[in-house]
This record gives sequence, C-alpha cells and structure tokens, in this order.
Amino acid sequence: MNLNAFSALCMSPGATLHEALARLDATAQGILLVTDPRGHLLRTITDGDLRRAALAGTPSTAPLSALPTAHAPHRVGLQASQRDVLALMDAQRIDHVPVVDAAGRAVDLITRRELSQRVYLSSPHLGDDEVALVQEAFTSNWIAPLGPHVDAFERELAALVGVQHAAATSSGTAALHLGLRLLGVGPGDVVLCSSLTFVASANPIKQLGATPVFIDSEPQSWNMSPQALTTALAALQADGVTPKAAVVVNLYGQSAEMDAIVPLLERYGVPMLEDAAESLGASYKDRPSGSFGKLAVFSFNGNKIITTSGGGMLVGNDATLIDHARKLSTQAREPARHYEHIEDGYNYRLSNVLAGIGRGQLRVLEQRVQSRRAVFAQYRDALGAVPGLRWMVEPEGHRSTRWLSAFVLEGDDAQARRDALLDFLERHNVEARPVWKPMHLQPLYTGCRYFPHDAGHDVSRALFEGGVCLPSGSNMSAAQRTRVGELVARGLGLTVRSAA
Ligand SMILES: *Cc1c(COP(=O)(O)O)cnc(C)c1O
Repeated sequence: MNLNAFSALCMSPGATLHEALARLDATAQGILLVTDPRGHLLRTITDGDLRRAALAGTPSTAPLSALPTAHAPHRVGLQASQRDVLALMDAQRIDHVPVVDAAGRAVDLITRRELSQRVYLSSPHLGDDEVALVQEAFTSNWIAPLGPHVDAFERELAALVGVQHAAATSSGTAALHLGLRLLGVGPGDVVLCSSLTFVASANPIKQLGATPVFIDSEPQSWNMSPQALTTALAALQADGVTPKAAVVVNLYGQSAEMDAIVPLLERYGVPMLEDAAESLGASYKDRPSGSFGKLAVFSFNGNKIITTSGGGMLVGNDATLIDHARKLSTQAREPARHYEHIEDGYNYRLSNVLAGIGRGQLRVLEQRVQSRRAVFAQYRDALGAVPGLRWMVEPEGHRSTRWLSAFVLEGDDAQARRDALLDFLERHNVEARPVWKPMHLQPLYTGCRYFPHDAGHDVSRALFEGGVCLPSGSNMSAAQRTRVGELVARGLGLTVRSAA
C-alpha cells in the first residue's frame, strides 16, 4: 500500500454509504478510516458496518456520520511496537489497526496479514545441490572436520577468488584471528582497522594483545578512506610506530578502493588482511574481492550472501601461511604418532558436512549476486530521488554484490528520521537495521586512536547516524520487494512530514 493507497483509505464523514462501499471495493483492504478535515481519526468503517446499516434500512445516500458508533476507534500511537499492535488485534478480534500521530491524525494502517509475513534483512537461501552434497558426507561417513568436501570447498573457493590457497574455518572470525596471528600480530603491536564494520573485524586484534587504530570511511563507497589512512600512517611513523597489519574491510558487498590503499600500505611495509566477509562475489577493476590482501577472510554465516550456517575461509597466495593456518586450526599437532605440541593452536576447522553445504552454495553464488543487485535496483527505482537520501555509491570500476542495500539520510535531523523510519518498518514487520556503529564509537574501544576522513569530518559517524540497511535477501519474492519499497517511500514521506 503506497502513500496514495493510504490516502484512498481515508474518507470524510460527509461521504455517503454508497461511496464508502465503492471505496472499500476499490481499495480491497477491508477497512476505511473516517477522518475530519484536519486528518483526525473519527472512526473506522468495515464491510460489516455497511451491511448492518443496510439491514437497518439506512439509505445508501446517508452520510457516514449517520452510522452508529459503539466505541472510540481502536488505534495505536507512532511508538507502538508490533507486539502492541498484535495484542490489540487479538484482544479486539480485529485485523486492522490504524496508527495516529501525537495530534490524533491517522497516518498509517497495520494489517494482520503483514504481521504474519515478516521480511528478513538477509536470510539463508539454499540451492538445489546442498542436500545431495550433505547426504554424500553422511553416506561416506565423513562427518568429522576434514574430509573430501573440505578440500574441494577450499579448492573451489580459491579458484573463484583467483587465489592459490584457502583454509576452511569454523567462522569468519576464526579466520581473522588466524590471519592476524600468521601476520605476526601479538602483544604491544598496533593494527590498523576500518572503523565502519562489524565488531568481528576488530576483536581478534584486541584478543591477540595488540592495539587497534581505527580509520574512517570515505563518503562515496563508505569503505576505508585512503586520505585518513595516509594521515594515520604518517602520524604513526612520526611516533616511530609501524603497524603490524591493516584489516581493510569490504563493506556491504563492495571492495575498498584498492588502487589507493594497496600502494600506501606497501610503501609503509604494512601487510593487508582483507576482511572480505561481506563481499564474496564482488570485484574491483575485474579482480575478485579477497584477492588483494596478503591474506583475506570470507564468512559463511547465516546472513551472508552464501552460507554454511556457520563457517569461514582464510585465503592467500602464500602456501606456507595457509598450511600453517590449517595446522593452527586443528590444535597445532606436530607430525608424530603421539600428540606432540610446540605451538598453541585452536579448534577452528570447518566440518566436512558444512563444507558440503558450502560447495552447493558456491555453485549459485553468481545467481545470488544478481538477485541482490536486482533487489537494490528495484528499491532505487521505487524510491526515485528522495531529497536528503543518498544510496551507497558503486563507484566506477567496482562491481558490488549489494549484499545489503543501504542508504544514508542526510541533514541535521538524519538520526531522528532514521529512527522513525526503522520504527515504521518494524511496525509493518519489516526487518531493517542501522548501518554498523563504527568501532571508534563503541564503548568496547573507548580510548583507541581514530583518524577521520578530514579534520572535523567524521564520515563513518554520519553514515551510522543516518544509515539504513534494507531487507536484501536473494530469496525475497517480487511482492516482498514491492512491499518494502512502498513502505520505505511511505515511511520516509511520514518522517519528512513529521519533521516539517
Ligand atoms: C560477518 C562478518 C565477520 C565475521 O564472520 P563470522 O563468520 O560471523 O564469524 C567479520 N567481518 C565482517 C565485516 C563481517 O560482516
């Protein structure tokens, strides 16, 4: 139901019963809202009200104001949660609840149908082969970690990403931890890290006893700002500090600006750990995301573009490093008959069953990329040019997977409008989220050094405050995409109006 469809539900008390019947028929929502000239909700009209009026002999030319009212209309305020709405529907045995603003004006309508059909941000989407591949693991009794699917999954992913070696892990976070350790990160070291990211990019730095230094985003692509990175490297050098590594994140399905970042890091001798957890399938100047770092990490968590329910991969061209990763991820056993240990290792290996799922998922990756890009294109077309709304840009030379469709609201009241929009979408049972809260604003990382894009220009903070990620799953139906697009348009219209 778009903005026009919502206004079509509103009728004045002077409209006739006949007009209401025709309008109920045309709008097909099963309910109309009677509002006064200033938009205040006076009552609701259903088929039942009109049927009872007809049976009571009320002429169809009578105005709606002639209908008897048993009670004040059931309604909720703008702050009501989805649970409040459902509770009211159940208590009153109704299927529609109008929403009124603080002044009592009708601004929205929630239907029971939408409350029963949640749209998720990014849900798993299985292909045709996964079940057979898992079945194969069972049939051959390869249920343990290690096994033919793990080896094949590593080979297939490495080929797809254009790297020579890959080690499958139990999660992307585990792969990040291993990667940093293999780059020699330890107590007292400094590690550079994109600030606008999921916390898993930064936690292993801290857990290895090193100190993260956070780098801002650049406004276009939202990824690590080469300008901020330049400032950081120079400032650290002036203090006599050479960072041990740099975790460069490829955000929401899009590579960072590698042509600027790679030579900068090389000049200072800082190896890159590319956090490509969100960007499998993306490319930068025709090179796959995840092929730029000395090491790179992927994630197959449930919300990523492909999933093994949980899993990750560490990739790179250095066979020694990746072999070492495999050893560390299986408790660092030395080659001996007995259990001999020199190094401390982890239990970080992916199981053969999950690798079977991963192999099936890899086969449909390109389809998933196309679907997510189509979701984004549909939103962008549906929303047109909304003033004060800027989509995450896909710069020249990039191919984003649009893992999540994201935009930022701009202006002084951006955060309030973002929150109003998220409340609105949640009321309609649509899962949307703010953009990642940057690491330099997290209580967990209070006191860490941070280099903004420009002095006094904190890009990632503004992206967080005004940023929204919309449902982007490759398995969203056409109807769901349309529904979300219309809801966002209407929600933004509402927030624009209430801000005005
Ligand atoms: C998901 C994600 C991770 C962590 O991956 P898991 O498999 O969930 O451990 C790391 N970094 C980024 C940027 C992510 O989005």
